Amino acid sequence: MKAKNRKVVLIGAGMVGMSFAYQLYSSGLCEELGLIDFFPEKAEGEAMDLNHAGALVPPIKVTSGGYEQCADADVIVICGGLPQKPGETRLQLVDKNIKVVKDMADKIKTSGFDGVIVIASNPVDVLTNALQKFTGFPKNRIVGSGTTLDTSRLRYMVGDTLNIAPNAVRGYIMGEHGDTQFAAWSNVYVYGKPIEKYLETSDKLNKDELKKIEERVMRAAYEVINRKRATYYAIGISLLAIVKAILRDENTELAVSGYCDGQYGVKDLYIGVPAIIGREGVREVVEMELSKDELEKMQHSAGVLRKTLNDAYKVVE
Ligand code: NAD
Repeated sequence: MKAKNRKVVLIGAGMVGMSFAYQLYSSGLCEELGLIDFFPEKAEGEAMDLNHAGALVPPIKVTSGGYEQCADADVIVICGGLPQKPGETRLQLVDKNIKVVKDMADKIKTSGFDGVIVIASNPVDVLTNALQKFTGFPKNRIVGSGTTLDTSRLRYMVGDTLNIAPNAVRGYIMGEHGDTQFAAWSNVYVYGKPIEKYLETSDKLNKDELKKIEERVMRAAYEVINRKRATYYAIGISLLAIVKAILRDENTELAVSGYCDGQYGVKDLYIGVPAIIGREGVREVVEMELSKDELEKMQHSAGVLRKTLNDAYKVVE
């Protein structure tokens, strides 16, 4: 008996979307991949380019076309939208991309899609909230990429400083994927030891160094964009980690933009939090014990995000 093919649809076949799709294509995680873009020829060309390696990867069929591809998909990944132009304010970008997300939400609903949506388009937390409102889908089935990438940057930078593997560093960047994010240092562990304890005996790391790492994480995207105009490989791999967790029902812990209903004192808002990710999207938001200072940072980040979100909703009302 043949099981149903696992299918992923990507909306937005640009640099981020195709970095993800390129990884997914050779991963063996799904048998079908549908591409949708504002420019249909772009999606068509990308599908052709990937399919031409078909003899060399686990069997997978890549198609391009419209939203009808979403009907029987398990996961939709949204990377489409307008990039920020020089001189354009962040708020102006929000105003444009919230309209784009409204249009996508309407088309996804019409397609009859009944799976999990993962979104990376920026400002990602604003758009994750908006996507749930516009689709009306269950809250757990909308997942923003949130601080998955920022968290990987933190673990890489701490690991690099100490000359240990990034995966031996545990911990999270929380809050908005943006300027108000913060490192939850009270829950960062190195070799199983709380990092605060590790500092007592380390000659490589001290509190000032941690502060610098936190700033470098927050500014990392700007630093990459200054040098190569955009970031896409690391977010592509971050998206693959989220989609893999969904398709394989891993129930693994990742820092995503997840729906908070009181966790960390945040009510009725998607924001960057550690969460258990599996077949149904977010199984639960992990509520760690944060310090008083960290909880205040979370409140601040949520407040800034809520204000931007409420202003953005006025554009589509
Ligand atoms: P890009 O310009 O290379 O690609 C965007 C693609 O979306 C283009 O191919 C464009 O034609 C398409 N598109 C635009 N409007 C569309 C619509 N209505 N329907 C379908 N497709 C549409 O940009 P990029 O570098 O790939 O970035 C994509 C998004 O990802 C941006 O919003 C960017 O800010 C965001 N991003 C997020 C993170 C993160 O951590 N969340 C990291 C990097 C980039």
